[in-house]
Formats: sequence, structure tokens, C-alpha cells
Amino acid sequence: MAADLHIHTTISDGTDTPEQIVKQALALGLDAIAITDHDIMDGAIIASRVATGKNITVLSGVEISCYYNTDEVHILGYFDQVVSSELTKTLAEMRNFRWQRAKLIVEKLKHVGINIKWQRIREIAGDGSVGRPHIADALVEKKIVPNRETAFKKYIGTGCPAYVPRKKISPIEAIDLITQSKGVAVLAHPGTINSQFFSQIGQWIKHGLHGIEVWHPHHSVMQSQYFLNQAKALDLIPTGGSDYHGLKHASCNSLGAVTAPMESVERIIELL
Ligand code: AMP
Ligand code: FE
Ligand code: FE
Ligand code: ZN
Repeated sequence: MAADLHIHTTISDGTDTPEQIVKQALALGLDAIAITDHDIMDGAIIASRVATGKNITVLSGVEISCYYNTDEVHILGYFDQVVSSELTKTLAEMRNFRWQRAKLIVEKLKHVGINIKWQRIREIAGDGSVGRPHIADALVEKKIVPNRETAFKKYIGTGCPAYVPRKKISPIEAIDLITQSKGVAVLAHPGTINSQFFSQIGQWIKHGLHGIEVWHPHHSVMQSQYFLNQAKALDLIPTGGSDYHGLKHASCNSLGAVTAPMESVERIIELL
């Protein structure tokens, strides 16, 4: 009885459509999934519709890209239905900013002698949530870099010549928005954020954080054990998932490879 609660689709920077995800999840025998695209819920809504009447639970989800100071902190939100216009408004603003940011990245690349056509970025990204992987793919396509990782390392990763941050939203703002929408807020892949996590988690719980992602491809066995203990000690729901982005992603490329127990899904649903 397994649930993959962290999945990206073509609506953000994944390479499989929501329809393909549902089909594959059924084939894998997953009992529950959640589509958690970056700053957009359209894929989650499509997946729920596609899965109606099928033998799988589909939670609507989102992964909100936040910063704690300058550090990346991602907050997952799980919902029954999304009703709050505040959340949808903020996500729309974040996506608008992502498009402006992508333009800025293309400009910055020009300054280091790399010409990527804006039109090509639009084609690769589609009309959902644009992200750096789309720009990386354009750089790979033009043979400027051999792969996405090199694109991040040389050009678009933090501190690189064409780095531009996203719209700044704090974890607390994201948790508040999710909570106001009657959703369940979960701290994504805590193993990838620095130790400020420990000093902040109490604050985040006060604002309604209900879970932490214990099982994630970027967590070692020791980290997962540590965060599971933390979840127990703090009475948080332990969640997990593959962070599937499709086959092109270097590390998050296997749907259902990392899962959470159905008990976690039941605890989320109880709160919705
Ligand atoms: P963005 O949301 O536009 O800031 O882009 C971040 C996304 O890029 C993440 O969600 C990953 O899918 C991907 N990513 C982050 N770091 C790397 C990396 N070093 N190499 C390849 N992809 C990455
Ligand atoms: Fe991503
Ligand atoms: Fe993330
Ligand atoms: Zn993710």
C-alpha cells in the first residue's frame, strides 16, 4: 500500500503529462498519488479528473517555491478542492514573475555571449509554470552544455552568471496561504535545506505546518530515519514521494521509486 506524493508534470518542469502520470501510476499499482507542480495546480486538477472512477486516490497538490533568506525552501500543499482565491492569485503572480525571470535569464545569457531564442523557451515550457530546466534544455539543444546539470553549474544555478531568483515568498506566507485554503502544508525535502530548518520549524508549525517529507530521492537512509523521528517527536505527518520529473531529470526520474505509507495519506485526508 504505497503513495507517491511528490510528482511533477509538463504543466511545470516534468516531461510527462498528468494523463500519462495517472496511467503509469495505475500500471505500477500505486494506491495514491499527488501531482505537486511548481507554483501551479492545473496538472493536479487534470489528474484528479482523469482518475475519477479509477482504483487510485489522487490528491491535488502544489509545490510552492519559497526562500528563507536566500535559501531555497519548498513547501508542499495538499488539497481536497482549492477554494481560496488568495492562493490562486499568489500562484498566478509567482508564475508571471517566473516568465519575467526567464526573460531576464535569457538577457543575462546574452551578456555572456549565449543567444537563446525567447520563442524557443516559450515552446519548450508551454503555457504552465516556466522554470530553469526549460532554459537548461534550450542550452543543451544548442549544444552549449552537454546536459542540464552543466547548465545549472555553469550558467543558471545560484551564484552563476545568468542566475536570477524567483519571486520572494517566505515559507510562512506559503503555509498561511495553504492553511487558509483548507489544505495541508508539508515541508518538502528538509534534507536539502540547511540547519536553519531546526530553528524555524517551531514557527512554521505555529503557522499550520502539518507534515514533513521524510522519504525523498535526495535523502539518505539516515536522513529519512532522522526526519521520521522528528515527525514523531513533533507530531507531524511523515510524507514522501519520488519528486518525479520524467526521464530527463538526473535524480528524480523514477515514478513510485520513493513512496509514503497509505497511513500518511489517511492522516492528510482526515485533515482536509
Ligand atoms: P526553478 O524552479 O526555475 O528555480 O528551477 C528549479 C528546478 O530545476 C528544480 O525543481 C529541479 O527540477 C531542477 N534543478 C535544480 N537544480 C538542478 C541541477 N543542478 N541540475 C538539473 N536540474 C536541476
Ligand atoms: Fe523541478
Ligand atoms: Fe522541491
Ligand atoms: Zn519537487
